[in-house]
Amino acid sequence: MHITALDGMTQRQKQALLDAGYDTADKLLRLFPRTVVALNGLKPLENLEDGQMTVVLGRVAETPRPVRIRRGLSVLRVKLIYGDTPMTLVWFNQDFYANSLAADRYYYAYGRLKKTKSSYQLSAPRLISFPQERALYPFYPPVKGVSNSALIGLIEKALAGCGDPGYLRAETAEAYGLIGRNAALRRLHRPETYGDYVLARRSLSAEELGTSLAAHTLVRRQSRRARTVVYADKREALQKAADGLPYRLTGDQRRALDEVICDMSGPEPMNRLLQGDVGSGKTVVAMLAMYYAYLSGCQAVLMAPTEILAFQHYQTALKLFEPLGVRCCRLSGSLPKKARDAALFEIESGAAGFIIGTHALLSEDVIFKNPALIVTDEQQRFGVGQRGLLESKSAGGDILSMSATPIPRTLSLALYGELRQSVLKEKPEGRKPVVTRVVRPGKERDMWDYLKRKAAAGEQSYVVCPRIDEDDDDGERTGVPAAKALFDREKAGFKPGELALIHGRLKEAEKNAVMRRFESGEARVLIATTVVEVGLDVRAATSMVIYGADRLGLSQLHQLRGRVGRGERESYCFILDGGAESAAERLGFFAACSDGFELAEYDFMQRGGGEFVGEDQSGGAGGLILDEAIVRAAKGIAADILSDEAACKRLRAALDEQETAQLKNITLN
Ligand code: ADP
Ligand code: MG
Repeated sequence: MHITALDGMTQRQKQALLDAGYDTADKLLRLFPRTVVALNGLKPLENLEDGQMTVVLGRVAETPRPVRIRRGLSVLRVKLIYGDTPMTLVWFNQDFYANSLAADRYYYAYGRLKKTKSSYQLSAPRLISFPQERALYPFYPPVKGVSNSALIGLIEKALAGCGDPGYLRAETAEAYGLIGRNAALRRLHRPETYGDYVLARRSLSAEELGTSLAAHTLVRRQSRRARTVVYADKREALQKAADGLPYRLTGDQRRALDEVICDMSGPEPMNRLLQGDVGSGKTVVAMLAMYYAYLSGCQAVLMAPTEILAFQHYQTALKLFEPLGVRCCRLSGSLPKKARDAALFEIESGAAGFIIGTHALLSEDVIFKNPALIVTDEQQRFGVGQRGLLESKSAGGDILSMSATPIPRTLSLALYGELRQSVLKEKPEGRKPVVTRVVRPGKERDMWDYLKRKAAAGEQSYVVCPRIDEDDDDGERTGVPAAKALFDREKAGFKPGELALIHGRLKEAEKNAVMRRFESGEARVLIATTVVEVGLDVRAATSMVIYGADRLGLSQLHQLRGRVGRGERESYCFILDGGAESAAERLGFFAACSDGFELAEYDFMQRGGGEFVGEDQSGGAGGLILDEAIVRAAKGIAADILSDEAACKRLRAALDEQETAQLKNITLN
């Protein structure tokens, strides 16, 4: 049912819903409440704790009037009597709440409790009119131009018309302890108990994931492409190249390379993900595959997310593959015009065998002669669109994506059948685990003294800060120093040029210059924002300091830690957490665990799969839930659909064009 067919809506609201992408009643029904608030069993204020999310029901004691404090700042304080206890509701710059409140009337208010010895206050609470027949009241994610209570009314109407039975068969529902779609939607939006609400969310999450898995398979089946490039069997020459490397490939590298070559020899174009921790040696696997393409007279393209990384890859290629006769060519945004023209010519004429660059490769005037293999490094850094564009430049070519962000086992379990991946778990020889220490605030000076001693001895360190400037955080004081401030603070303790600073606001050329100074060893300690996160390889770096570690995901921390420990010397990772109590357990786990997959799994279980399936369906409060049991149920549901011709037909018809295009492009982000 189209959204405009729901009655009781103003023209404004209709437009607002359309603007927000809710064009059908069904989409509106898929809007999960962010929270549900229990209106029964309210507790007296004395029994509640400071900082707790709280619901009260009280009488407004006097007509509310906002007060203007200064230009641009007004405050509205409303006195509310809850039971016998007076309390205050406070809003800043939200004067309109004055109009929704009348003296001597009753309201529910929901917000965070601020409790002092003599007063109770809720800051910026949300209001619910009284009386309510619901015991549990839903708050939806904000839709601009439509209030929460209007949303509740509209969803109520949409529920009355909902008839789509969904794809969950009764036996499957029973087997996984779930309920069917219509029942689940009713309980999601109008739960009677909290248990109802949770069961509804679980059921809908499983069904949603199950249908997208099935849809994914259907679309893939339809869009299978035929291989356009056929390679000569050059395995022997490839083996010779591998034998000529300055090191022996690890078992995992050999296996991954076999899998890649096997795909490249198959009937369909390759679409494989090469996954492995930082430092596991993905680059050389990719380059050997590129060499395999070269051996059949084809071009191979490697796209990296930053200039620095592209340059490093280019140098690797020069060192390892130019001696074998491969002409390597580099393309990036900062290349001077003359060099760029020369590169373009080599690419178009086919002289270049390996083409390595940044997204500059996507530019229209880059025309490949005969591209057979496309590799993207740190694929999660590129948008689906960018990757798609590169892939379209080589219709029917082979695609290899590399990523250091491990996909949690739970999720790969769900997608395993569809996604071909090779995993490098084994580390190249001689690599030592990085010793990780949580640095308490009182020990920060000792740590800097250690960095100075190491610098004097010729060893290098990274120091990562979450922010560039002090004021980057909406004024929120966190106790975590910003990169620039830290640089100014510590500069005096180092010899001139020994301490360097790099961050995302520097121009590309400046960034490159700083990186070169660090690579050459002239700069010993590099203060950086997370720009260093991506694949750099500086062997003399032995310490990694991370400020504000509690704000980063464990996978991201692990990537950062992987910047060190590449040489023979013992390496250290120091994490500083800004003092948040809640982070202690997580960071403790991080310090004790050096397996990227386990870390990803831990974060996945704690925070849900939002990062992986896209923000708007995120697994946080109120969104889709993704855990092992749900993934298992989803696979069951997908299997049901795929084995039932009628269900497949129904699903195909339900997919609109846009969804189909998206599904075609999914690799994993
Ligand atoms: P990542 O997987 O993070 O992209 P790289 O490909 O950058 O890792 O490899 C990290 C380092 O390990 C590089 O300096 C590379 O030369 C080295 N390396 C790769 N494979 C091996 C190996 N089998 N033995 C020893 N060193 C290796
Ligand atoms: Mg890499």
